[in-house]
Order: sequence, then structure tokens, then C-alpha cells
Amino acid sequence: MTDRYQTFTRTPLGKTLVKNLGLPDPLPLPRWIEGSPVIDGPVVFGAIGETDAGKAIQALLRDIGAAFSTANEGVASSEIRPKALVFDATGATSTADLSSLQRFFSPVVRQLAPAGRVVVVGRTPELSSSPEQQIAQRALEGFTRSLGKEVKRGATVNLVYVAPDAHEQLDSTLRFFLSPKSAYVDGQVARIGTGPLVSNDPNRPLAGRTALVTGAARGIGAAIADTLARDGATVIGVDVPQNADPLRKVISRIGGTELLLDVTSVDAAQRIAAHAQEQHGGLDIVVHNAGITRDRRLVNMRTDVWDAVLDVNLRAPERITKHLVDTGALRDGGSIVGVSSMAGIAGNNGQTNYATSKAGVIGLVQALAPKLAERQIRINAVAPGFIETEMTAKIPFTIREVGRRLNSLQQGGLPIDVAETIAWFADPASAGVTGNVVRVCGQSLLGA
Ligand code: NAD
Repeated sequence: MTDRYQTFTRTPLGKTLVKNLGLPDPLPLPRWIEGSPVIDGPVVFGAIGETDAGKAIQALLRDIGAAFSTANEGVASSEIRPKALVFDATGATSTADLSSLQRFFSPVVRQLAPAGRVVVVGRTPELSSSPEQQIAQRALEGFTRSLGKEVKRGATVNLVYVAPDAHEQLDSTLRFFLSPKSAYVDGQVARIGTGPLVSNDPNRPLAGRTALVTGAARGIGAAIADTLARDGATVIGVDVPQNADPLRKVISRIGGTELLLDVTSVDAAQRIAAHAQEQHGGLDIVVHNAGITRDRRLVNMRTDVWDAVLDVNLRAPERITKHLVDTGALRDGGSIVGVSSMAGIAGNNGQTNYATSKAGVIGLVQALAPKLAERQIRINAVAPGFIETEMTAKIPFTIREVGRRLNSLQQGGLPIDVAETIAWFADPASAGVTGNVVRVCGQSLLGA
């Protein structure tokens, strides 16, 4: 639904009121359009010493045709309006090196273009070679999260931790964080480990892959189906029989196959596996998007309401994942994505059932990531914040307005923002990306 306040702030009267009264000023966020470059402006790159990660970052910037300059201390020049600032902090071995953050960013951050990108790359703290290095690397989180709150006009700040010897895995993640595909991902930390090197066409990274999307008939699920198909995947859309018509519309638009079933039914996993194997020879990507809310305070929570939410949001993904993995219907090298929620991180009044289920999705990721790595299957989750869908349109006006503004970007996200994050996880070139929970929340203040 339209954000009327945001539309008003773009009018001459709105602009004046925003300026004079210091009201929120949510810049409309550009989204990625097919055929456009990863980044459409100059990049300033800085580093602490010469590192393998730094070399990989510069190779990528060349590869995507970005005009970039290097500077260990940012240059304050009104002539340069960088679209992105990328800083390689993997070379920080002690807290003394943290001064470089201030030296590089302080002069140049003011020049960042609207909807600009800041990406800091660090070394995974727990894999540091000394306590001093671990302390310095962990400190980067506080820096990026605070800078995320300081930069305005639709800019985002994210941190990518890369494991030792995993610098060659940086490409797909940097492409995501530098591009408008990550428009609503802000203040996040992504972790990259080692994995097989996969080189594919970044414009069709999912070509030849089959993806299952549950709850694909509408909202976020329909956006996920569209986006995975755009990236080359053949999509199997699942939804309940009552939503046959909207599901058919989605599938006929993208040319996949549909499967009408309730994910909580006893034979759901078997039917999905049989459909995938018979119609497509197997599966490469599974997105557990189907979800429901049945909000009540715990004192008024009936057992059937509690169970319904836990069944759809958590038990079904757990059961379906187990069956698809155990039977091999999900091929080695595949990717599983759970859809959690900010409520699963922060908790929410009236949502004990929903938050339990969504925190459980994070548990699913953490429990399975190490085991599935043996078969090079990756599992990650997105945790959306306030996303403009039919679900959030039903929230009463005042609560909806608060939900929309209580984040660094001062607006709600769109289903496409969740879908783009899932497409990054699903990309075979993200072979080193597993065990992550990334919030798509505009750096919401809740649960931060
Ligand atoms: P939605 O209600 O618009 O769509 C959910 C889809 O899932 C529907 O098509 C529905 O028919 C399907 N579904 C529900 N139960 C099912 C079942 N048992 N079997 C098969 N299909 C089933 O919701 P949405 O806003 O698009 O949310 C999608 C996901 O994102 C959910 O998991 C939700 O919890 C999560 N989420 C949404 C938001 C938000 O702001 N909209 C925020 C955080 C998390």
C-alpha cells in the first residue's frame, strides 16, 4: 500500500514542513532494475594495509565497471560524490588499527550520494589469530551499526565478516550490498566462510536450478517467486487450495509449476519431494515462506491458535527440510532459506506464538548449518521488519505509522527487498554464505 506520508514529503509544502519542523524525511529508495549496473556512481575504497580481501574487493570493483579511487584517509572534496564507500578492515590486528576507520570515513562520509552504500569488510572475529585481532574485529560491529544511524537520505551501512582464506567468496555478497537490491538491508552483519568457487552469470545466477517457494500466491512469497524466476530458476509455487487462483496467476507469469497443498498436512513433505522429482528431477533451492499470525496475549491464547502458528511457521519447515534432505530430493550444493521475523528477535506484545515460531526458524538455521555443510547445502534466514503487504495493511493506522518510521530509513520495506535478499542466499556463487540470519528491516530500532 502507498505510504501517504512519504508521498506528502515530496511535495513543496511537505518539503518545507519536514525542514522546518524536523520531521522524518524518508527518501524513496531506488530498487534494482534489470539491465542496470551494480552501482551507478563512483566508489571510494580504503584499507588497513594490503590484504587478500582488499585485492578481491578491488578486482570485483573493476569487474563491475565501477569508477573507484583508493584512499587511506578519505578526501573531503565537494567534486566527488561517491555512491559507495568500501573499507577493507581485515588487516586490523589490534585496536590501534581502529583509528583508520575515523581517518577514512570522517572526511568523506558527508559526501556520500543519496541512497549510497557503505560496506566494511572485516575478518570473522572468532577465527582471529590473536585475542588482540579478535577484539579489533568485533569492534567493527559497533562502528557500522552506529554509522548506519548517522547516514541519512536512504544510505545503508553493512558489515561483511570474511573467514581466513574465504576472500574469493566475497563477490556475490558485495554485489548484493553495493547494489539497490539491498535497499532495505541496513545495519546488518553477514558472515562468509570458505566453499567451492562457483563462477556463474551474475545476470542469470539461478539458470538451470529448481526452486520451491511456499506461500507463493501473494505478498512476499509472490515476490520471491518472481525474483528467483527473473534470476533464471524454474519455480515450484506451493500454496493452500483456497489460493489456487492467485497462485495460478503467479505461476503462469513466470512459467513454473504449481502445487496446491497445506504445508502442515501429514504428507506435505512426501508430495513436495514426489512433485519435484517427477516434474523437475529434483530441487536446488527451498524457501519456507508460508506463514501465519494469530495474535492474542498469552492469557487469552487458545491451544488451537498456539498450535496453528507453530505448525505452519516452524514445524512444517522443520519436517519438510528433513524429508527433502534425507531423501536427496534437495540436491547437494543446494540452498535452504527460512523466513523468520523481527518479532522472533525482539519479541512482540500479543505474539508469543508467532515469535516462538520465528525464533525457532533461527534455531533451525543454527542447528542445521554445520551438518548440511558436509553436503555443501547452505541454510540461512531472512528476518523481515515492517514490509508493506496485505498483512501489514491491516494494522491500525497509528501502530502502522510507528512501525514504518522506527528505523534508520524511516519507511517500510517492500516484498521485493525480502526477495532480493533470498536471491542472494540462493545464488550458487554464495557458496560460503551459510548460517546467516539477515534482517530486512531498514535497521529497525526494535531488537537491535
Ligand atoms: P501473506 O499472508 O500475505 O502470505 C502468506 C502466504 O502463505 C499466503 O499465500 C498463504 O495462503 C500461504 N500460506 C499460509 N499458510 C499456509 C499453509 N499452511 N500451507 C501453504 N501455504 C500457506 O504474508 P506475507 O506478509 O507475504 O508474509 C510472508 C512471510 O513473511 C511469512 O512467513 C511472514 O510471517 C513473514 N513476515 C512478514 C512480515 C511483513 O511485514 N509482511 C514481517 C516479518 C515476517
